[in-house]
Amino acid sequence: MLHLSKLLFTAILSISTSIFAQQISGFSPKQIIGGKGEVLTINGSGFGASRGSSHVSFFREGNSYTDANTGSGFNYISWSNTEIKLEMPVAFSNKIKVNISGTDYASADTLKVKANLGYRQPNPLLYDLLTDNNKKGGVTWLVHPVYWNNPEIKQTIADVVQEFRCKTGANYIIEPLTQWVPLNLGQGKHIIAPDSSLGAVGFNDRLWASCIVGAETFYHNQTQLLRFNTQQNWYYGKGQPPAGAAKFRYVMFHEMGHSLGLGHVNEWGESMYPTVTLLPSDNWCKRDTISAAEQKAIRHYISLSQNFTFRGCGITPMKPNFDCKDVFGLSVGLESITHEGAWLFPNPASNQIQVKLSASETAEISLWDTRGRKMLSANTRGAEPINLPAELSNGFYLVRLSTDHGTQTQRLIIQR
Ligand SMILES: [Zn+2]
Repeated sequence: MLHLSKLLFTAILSISTSIFAQQISGFSPKQIIGGKGEVLTINGSGFGASRGSSHVSFFREGNSYTDANTGSGFNYISWSNTEIKLEMPVAFSNKIKVNISGTDYASADTLKVKANLGYRQPNPLLYDLLTDNNKKGGVTWLVHPVYWNNPEIKQTIADVVQEFRCKTGANYIIEPLTQWVPLNLGQGKHIIAPDSSLGAVGFNDRLWASCIVGAETFYHNQTQLLRFNTQQNWYYGKGQPPAGAAKFRYVMFHEMGHSLGLGHVNEWGESMYPTVTLLPSDNWCKRDTISAAEQKAIRHYISLSQNFTFRGCGITPMKPNFDCKDVFGLSVGLESITHEGAWLFPNPASNQIQVKLSASETAEISLWDTRGRKMLSANTRGAEPINLPAELSNGFYLVRLSTDHGTQTQRLIIQR
């Protein structure tokens, strides 16, 4: 009798275990950016002691969940019976699924993916980066005369370029396209142009290239186009477009966002929602700025494009833009070297910096963050120290020095 009751107990326990064995009890964070290495933690039970052939599955553009092959390629940081940590891949907002031994278990809540940074591979993360393509620090977009010669359209394009320069640090400048070329990537020119044969409202074409040195292959975007459909009833102003019109600056947010690494999202309110005209984007396209998530994702991509160490094939990193409002690149190339070597010390600095000047020499100093925002402007003479504002956070800055002899810049690290 005793034996029987023990059996019964074991049987009940085993049934209840199989009902509640595998489940997702929660995850964090609830909002995330895909493709930039942010860590997603999934909690629950019955995940298994190690991953084996199990995997996590995310909803994607095209209305389907990632399969076992894709799911096995994600970067899993840890996997235990109760917790999974992985780098968030590119995905659309939806429930998360954990696939254990061929069966899917879905979360109750929706994970909101606010932005996606497109990659070549998720593990380890590999991107097609931007470089100092124009040898002026970044990328020169040539604007078609139909746009350049129309003051309203030219201003709209300049506004959008300034928005990306100031909010993300992208070193994009615009110049007029003065020589006719066919609108294709083979020309090796970055062009912004109207296109009468385009099947979409707008389009970003990209041509990537690679360079191999030793064991390393570096991928970068070599040429890009931004094309806009001439069949649209374009609105070039700000705010809400008139009914039925396509808002040019919003569509350009979307296409230029692609050029800066962004993929689509299914989150309402984001510029990277796949459709850019009419509903539902009419509900939010009155916004004349890029969104917070878009800024964050692109800033990460720009940081990678500015700090890679690969050298070969004449490739050098994109440089910070010093004055983010200088969309026409008028100040590029004005620097001249007046002092040999480092003239700024100490570096790293904490509270003060000093410039190597002779006793009577004066200089004008400006300090910029890597997003091109001027954080400090000061005059100094001789050995006079310059106080660094307390609110500056640790990191890289650029210091521009102007004396009677000219202007030059140096990188400064603030470390407190
Ligand atoms: Zn798109």
